[in-house]
Amino acid sequence: MPHCNKKMISFFLTTKCNLCCRYCYNAKERNAIEEQSLPLNIAFAGIDWYFANNKSRHIRFYGPGEPTQEFEKLKQITLYAKNHSNRGNEVTTEIQTNGVFTEIIREWMLNNLNIIWISFDGTKTIQNYNRPLNPKYQELYNNKTSADILESNVKWLIENKGKNQLMVGARVTITNNNIDKQIEMIEYFYDLGIRYVWTDPVFYSVGEIPVCMDKNKRCEFSFDMNSYVKEYLDAYHYAKKRGVFWGSFLTVNFDGKSPHHCRCCIPLEAPHLTPDGYISACDMVVIGAEPYHMYPFIVGKWNEPTKQFDIDYEKVSILNNRKSTLMAHCIKCPVKLHCGGFCLGETVNETGMLDGQNIAKCNAIRSLYSEMGSCDPYKYLHP
Ligand code: SF4
Ligand code: SF4
Ligand code: SF4
Repeated sequence: MPHCNKKMISFFLTTKCNLCCRYCYNAKERNAIEEQSLPLNIAFAGIDWYFANNKSRHIRFYGPGEPTQEFEKLKQITLYAKNHSNRGNEVTTEIQTNGVFTEIIREWMLNNLNIIWISFDGTKTIQNYNRPLNPKYQELYNNKTSADILESNVKWLIENKGKNQLMVGARVTITNNNIDKQIEMIEYFYDLGIRYVWTDPVFYSVGEIPVCMDKNKRCEFSFDMNSYVKEYLDAYHYAKKRGVFWGSFLTVNFDGKSPHHCRCCIPLEAPHLTPDGYISACDMVVIGAEPYHMYPFIVGKWNEPTKQFDIDYEKVSILNNRKSTLMAHCIKCPVKLHCGGFCLGETVNETGMLDGQNIAKCNAIRSLYSEMGSCDPYKYLHP
């Protein structure tokens, strides 16, 4: 099933976060503004609007910080959706969390969520190096490390899920530090009870200018894509034998055919509400007021006086026409329908253009496809 079939309304709940990840894709953006959380009236109006115009009843919680930092809002939005008169009884729920939350929160998650993606860089040493606890929160967690808290939460959720329709999976960032440790990581996740993992090669953080204009950012960034392809394939085959799904962000469309890369191309079927009341098309554009070069992804805004969302249909149409069958560098590409022109967010962030190209990633996607080919539909689509 192509990735653009992942249809849902996402809530970017809050800019607050209890970790200080080394590669945080939006730390500068979050730190440059006052802490903000999505107002409940906008979240509720978003549910009314989305349910009135879409068949999907899937709701999802995501950053820009750590969604469980706004636990009350998480609970109230879920309750509102599940009790909605327009097929609220069909609501399914998903979260992407850093896994560092209290016992009260994990108990609620057990009983209210269907898909929990934990951003997790296992093994323990790598997790603690890449994703250390924010020092402000150390006392709350009795000076435990992020890996200690995460391990305990994951094990508890998996051990206690019983007959609940709940999947606890990992969403892993691959950096040069763990690129050759993927088999070790598979064993680590296996021992925790995790059977579903999506891995993402590290990507550039979002700033005020595209990466192509930011020499410093380019100099600081390093990722060995050739080595990633080789190590990923070894890990993928190894995981398969262990009964673990080990996906790559570069293969999200290998299970179907589409000229679109993802939901970003059909944003009204998969809107993301930002903490400041905008509709974003993409997980990488989490604050609407000043999106800088990422402006193509802000496709709407909450209008307080009219109590409605104003939609920019021209931007929606431009995203809808961003297809691998129309872009010059993709037209002759043998994998165009299993790639869809690659991630729009990363492309615009790197090149400043919706039809830009990252040749290293194109080569990696083609190599992976020539080794792996098409596959059956993924059970759990990439978050
Ligand atoms: S958990 Fe997410 S938002 Fe928080 S610091 Fe890490 S990457 Fe950034
Ligand atoms: S980050 Fe990439 S895959 Fe995710 S919504 Fe944005 S464009 Fe799509
Ligand atoms: S691999 Fe590159 S050229 Fe091929 S469809 Fe994807 S983005 Fe286009």
